[in-house]
Amino acid sequence: MHSADCQHEDGAHPGLKGHALRHALADAERRCAHTQERLTAPRRRVLELLLRADGPQKAYDMIAAYGEGGEPAKPPTVYRALEFLERLGFAHRIESLNAYVPCRLEGESHAAGFLICSCCGAAEEFEPDFAPGRAAAAARGYAVSSVTLEARGLCPACQAG
Ligand SMILES: [Zn+2]
Ligand SMILES: [Zn+2]
Ligand SMILES: [Zn+2]
Repeated sequence: MHSADCQHEDGAHPGLKGHALRHALADAERRCAHTQERLTAPRRRVLELLLRADGPQKAYDMIAAYGEGGEPAKPPTVYRALEFLERLGFAHRIESLNAYVPCRLEGESHAAGFLICSCCGAAEEFEPDFAPGRAAAAARGYAVSSVTLEARGLCPACQAG
């Protein structure tokens, strides 16, 4: 999702391809089997589209790119797959971009932080320390289901320009 006017070098996270992509998908299969969930064909395809992308993906881009032969998916197919991938911690939704990225960190669903470049649109994931927030929620009797922190600025490549 490189913005049209960004003249800077590509961000630090080019999409996966070839062996790395197959490896990441096989890894996802294993993690699903481990939690008694199934990485069905649509779930696997949507994860593949996220992993292959160079940046955050909009749902409608994935709907359009879904079919290997160029035919689009039915929107609910993609939305349901995204819901599943988010629930299992394979993907995150970045609210301010209304777009999705594959999780770059190992393990279960977790509090996610993103450093979003306002120039090139790159979104780098980090794991924020949400412990104080959890403590505050517990003290007020809240049950937190997900946490996403979004920080905006310029990535190193775009600052250099
Ligand atoms: Zn830029
Ligand atoms: Zn993550
Ligand atoms: Zn940038």
